[in-house]
Amino acid sequence: MNILILGSGGREHSLAWATLQNPKCDKLIVAPGNAGIAQIAECARLDIEDPGAVTEFAGENAIDLVIIGPEAPLAAGVADRLREAGILVFGPSAAAARLEASKSFTKEICAAVNAPTAGYGHFTEAEAAKAHIRAQGAPIVVKADGLAAGKGVIIAETVEAACAAVDDMFGGAFGGAGAEVVIEEFMTGEEASFFVLVDGETCLPIGTAQDHKRIGEGDTGPNTGGMGAYSPAPIMDEAVTQKALDEIVRPTMAEMVRRGMPYQGVLYVGLMIENGQPRLVEYNVRFGDPECQVLMLRLGAQALDLMHACADGRLAEAQVTWAEDHAMTVVMAASGYPGDYAKGTEIRGLDSLPEDSFHMMFHAGTKAEGGKVLANGGRVLNATARGTTLQEARDRAYALVDAVDWPDGVHRRDIGWRALD
Ligand code: AMP
Repeated sequence: MNILILGSGGREHSLAWATLQNPKCDKLIVAPGNAGIAQIAECARLDIEDPGAVTEFAGENAIDLVIIGPEAPLAAGVADRLREAGILVFGPSAAAARLEASKSFTKEICAAVNAPTAGYGHFTEAEAAKAHIRAQGAPIVVKADGLAAGKGVIIAETVEAACAAVDDMFGGAFGGAGAEVVIEEFMTGEEASFFVLVDGETCLPIGTAQDHKRIGEGDTGPNTGGMGAYSPAPIMDEAVTQKALDEIVRPTMAEMVRRGMPYQGVLYVGLMIENGQPRLVEYNVRFGDPECQVLMLRLGAQALDLMHACADGRLAEAQVTWAEDHAMTVVMAASGYPGDYAKGTEIRGLDSLPEDSFHMMFHAGTKAEGGKVLANGGRVLNATARGTTLQEARDRAYALVDAVDWPDGVHRRDIGWRALD
């Protein structure tokens, strides 16, 4: 098979790495890729949010399967155009991608099938939203309806803060994403991510993970894209997993079929779990980054077979072979992130790292220049390892971190603390 992966982060490096473990991959192109991906695959310049350009490129390069990493190409309809051209694609249609692109759409689907989630109101006008907030009281959650790069969610501790957030959103703080607002009940409990492949009809769970969103140790400070993750999530025991499938994932996926927009791709199910009861926080229509990195290290070569079966509507006959292991990834970020950070600082020591099926240094924001590897983004490297216990995976991941010579990098030392305690 000739395979094209779209994206440029650590997520896509791990997808490329897993794909290359599988002998069914004859040729791999990644667009646009990064410095780490360029060491293992051909990288191509391509506007990955342009459905016509991607489809033309796939045709010219005799691509058999396109794997779409980030959400923007999905929302732009890249998967739709590829399917029209008869090319297999791992990723949902633009219509189905509304499960991530519109929070009110997801809430409405959940309501239609009685899936457990936070109570909510959907507003297109500030006064009505504020009246709802006053009636409900705080804490309360205010969300911009559309895609806001993970920033459109405000957990308000007071009614005043929630009303101010509503004014900000309708005032354009999140651009078009905030033209509509969803107000949600504040849920308590422990969060976990659940990953399920869906080929329209069949739902196949492929793993669980937990991540650390805050920049600071002890989960403090500003939110980031994610500073580390581990898999599996201990809180997702068999009973919770089964409830999440039976009460949330299967009914909502069946509702998508009923509405004529079957979901095809990976469904990232963000859950809040309390007293053994999972409730939906959000759906994402792609792998999480950095959760993908730990899942790929655990799945290895079979990840390609699973994504291929998903794209081809053959999940009913697919199976996941589980290794009884754990994986962890530690994000190394540029100092200053998630605020202003320096670009172009040199990273040394990457050549001598152990890289095998137990250890991988996935690259996120890096670029190669004059034989050097330079930081080229906020989140830069993902030290990823697996072991028979989470402690072993952790020790291996931090050994990778400590072997890198990058004085301008920062990372958290406590990834996995909750699960390790
Ligand atoms: P979202 O983009 O919807 O996943 O929201 C981002 C984060 O905000 C989630 O991962 C949760 O930590 C938190 N969050 C979102 N909605 C709620 C809610 N209804 N109750 C409590 N926390 C929430």
